[in-house]
Amino acid sequence: MASDFKRKKRTLPAWMTAAHNQTKQIKKSKEGEKNASQEKTSDRLDIKNPKGNGQYVDTDDDATVKSASELITDAMPFIKVPGRVTYTFQSADCACICDEIVSSLEGGSQIPVGFDMEWPVTFRHGGSGKTALIQMYFPDNQCYLFQVCAMNPVPKQLPKLICHEKVLLVGLNIESDLWKLERDFDIRVKCLMDRGAVVDVGRLANKKLKSHERWDLNGLCKNVLGMQLDKNSEIRCGSWDEIPLSQDQIAYSSADAYAGLILYEKLIEL
Ligand code: ZN
Repeated sequence: MASDFKRKKRTLPAWMTAAHNQTKQIKKSKEGEKNASQEKTSDRLDIKNPKGNGQYVDTDDDATVKSASELITDAMPFIKVPGRVTYTFQSADCACICDEIVSSLEGGSQIPVGFDMEWPVTFRHGGSGKTALIQMYFPDNQCYLFQVCAMNPVPKQLPKLICHEKVLLVGLNIESDLWKLERDFDIRVKCLMDRGAVVDVGRLANKKLKSHERWDLNGLCKNVLGMQLDKNSEIRCGSWDEIPLSQDQIAYSSADAYAGLILYEKLIEL
């Protein structure tokens, strides 16, 4: 699924060059005590691949072919979510939590909040199920998971928080997520777009990196942060509408919201 590094030549930033060298070293040590001519694998490959598509081909045996960028990204550390995760599927709890957060926002300045949503993937008609979960990660390391599909009704305090003037929602493809939210729950999001209270980290990355990629979240994490998300496809395509969520689903969904925030923080520094 990850469409992060394509097999085209790209200039690596300095920090990645270090990882690159490290990966090459790992590969070398894995290959063991080979003779000097075999050590020149990559030189030989440059000749074989004059276009420089970045592939290392192991000519010794039937080993799988991994691109240089795959070797680099496989070795990247996984993102760990700091702080506390609060998860609820109860309408009343959600209302209380949102009220509390809203009152803590009063008087302060605008803060970026990592935002993401999950829903069950349906393979019929290539469609997607109704929004099941809303994740919000705040800069004070508090993560909130609201399983809205189980709330009847979704309390009005939730859209009040999402649309709060002190909240800047940041995430990948966040606008299409918000439009989906409007369709699924009749939560009005147009005002957010109108006053520019959302930041798509993919678009921000393209602007800062002068690129034209269609990013996925993990690709962005790898390129911008030098870290990766644990994108287990079983969890990603799992039952987000099942109550309660599993520990794995909680960890996975909090990491997505957290990644949105730290990507934003990193990108605005560039
Ligand atoms: Zn997600």
